[in-house]
Amino acid sequence: MSPSSRLPHDDETRALSAVVIFLPFGAGIRVILVRSKTFGYLVSASVRDTKSQRPGDHAADVVVLGAGPAGLVLGNILLDRGIACVVLERAERTQVQARARAGFLAAETVRILERHGLAEGLHKRGQLHSTCEFRTEDGRFRLDYSGLAQGERHTVYPQQHLVADLVTRFLDRGGEIRFGSEAVAVRDADTERPEVAVREADGRPGLWRARYVAGCDGRHGAARRSLPAGTVRHHRDHGVTWLGLLAEAPPSLDAVGYAVHERGFAGHMARTSEVTRYYLQCERGTPADAWSEERIWDELELRMRAREYGPLRRGRVVQRCVVDLESDVLEPLRHGALFLVGDAAGLISPSAAKGANLAVLEAAVLARALIDDLTAQDPEGLDAYSARCLTHIWRAQQFSHWMIGLLHGPTGTDGDSLFHNSLRRSRLTSLRTSRSHQDWFAEQYVGV
Ligand SMILES: Cc1cc2nc3c(=O)[nH]c(=O)nc-3n(C[C@H](O)[C@H](O)[C@H](O)COP(=O)(O)OP(=O)(O)OC[C@H]3O[C@@H](n4cnc5c(N)ncnc54)[C@H](O)[C@@H]3O)c2cc1C
Repeated sequence: MSPSSRLPHDDETRALSAVVIFLPFGAGIRVILVRSKTFGYLVSASVRDTKSQRPGDHAADVVVLGAGPAGLVLGNILLDRGIACVVLERAERTQVQARARAGFLAAETVRILERHGLAEGLHKRGQLHSTCEFRTEDGRFRLDYSGLAQGERHTVYPQQHLVADLVTRFLDRGGEIRFGSEAVAVRDADTERPEVAVREADGRPGLWRARYVAGCDGRHGAARRSLPAGTVRHHRDHGVTWLGLLAEAPPSLDAVGYAVHERGFAGHMARTSEVTRYYLQCERGTPADAWSEERIWDELELRMRAREYGPLRRGRVVQRCVVDLESDVLEPLRHGALFLVGDAAGLISPSAAKGANLAVLEAAVLARALIDDLTAQDPEGLDAYSARCLTHIWRAQQFSHWMIGLLHGPTGTDGDSLFHNSLRRSRLTSLRTSRSHQDWFAEQYVGV
């Protein structure tokens, strides 16, 4: 039960009430039970205006923090079912739609997007992908992971294109995204009327009241900062750093390329017919601009053994970032009325291309649960949300961790390094030769 002081100010209601109970009814309908000393319980229902009376003070059934894949999928599904929701996004629209990160969408991710009418763009412009190639000191081999995984394939579609589609769709449906509005803190998550304090685009403070808050604002967002003491955090630094590169060049091979080399890992991932993502393992602390373009291409060709297997298609490097491979998972993912989704719930290294896929899956699970709760007063899905998503998160973490071990060896010549490199080599041999190992790999690689 919410104390009346947490309700939007309404003098008429206050004059009547000793106790006010705010019941979320979804579909923009607000139902208030007012207990009057004179009349007993009165029921008041109104279509909720997302803005309440005080300037800078607003309300919605669900306040979504962050307009990344997680927040936008969640917002779109909720809006489609008539749930009053708003998305608060710190960055500007142009920035959000220009962030080049993921590109490999799992088959299950595509099915979720299709189910909710969000897959038009990826079907028009995405490309199906089903093969990966390993290049090692013992030669190269290819895995047709789609054939091994009963036809399940990736769709390659750059994350920034998916985000742009999701933004457009949400706005076209009449949704509200407050670009430039930064969530500062989530308060009173242990009550039925949590609040989100925000800093608006013009610097003024604002406040959103909600029934539920979805923290889709990434690893450094306000949701994570607002968690109660006692939240368990599993953090692991895998001790590996990648230089992430986007090159204005067509893909050099028709497969994801994983090169294991004594100088370090190199990776090749298609994005579009004009742009390709490459990764180069580098020393921890290397600045993104430390290497010249020539050095980058020479190093990529060396590690990918271009002399033996064919040259790379070079082009201008248009984006660079440094990624320290880390895992960072929180437990539980629900704290009263606050839910963690996507990278806010669990950061995963890009070694197995799972992050965006988990974000979409978790958003869909939470959307279903919120709809059941807000429209049918069925809280079961919300109660199960954390455990259900953590199962997927740990499965992905397990595979991603295994991939890190497969693709990177210690560079030293001491006994321990030699031992671990021999293990890594043996693991690759097993993957090349064992059908059951390949089946397991394919299932993990393409699934989420
Ligand atoms: C180089 C790189 C390559 C990757 N490759 C892959 C891949 O191939 N496949 C894959 O599946 N994953 C990949 N990932 C991971 C993937 O990009 C992320 O897991 C995914 O973006 C997570 O989505 P999200 O919505 O949870 O978070 P984000 O995409 O980070 O979105 C969070 C949003 O919240 C906003 N925000 C933050 N703080 C606040 C605040 N206080 N108030 C309001 N808004 C806020 C941010 O501006 C942002 O727009 C890669 C990541 C990187 C860095």
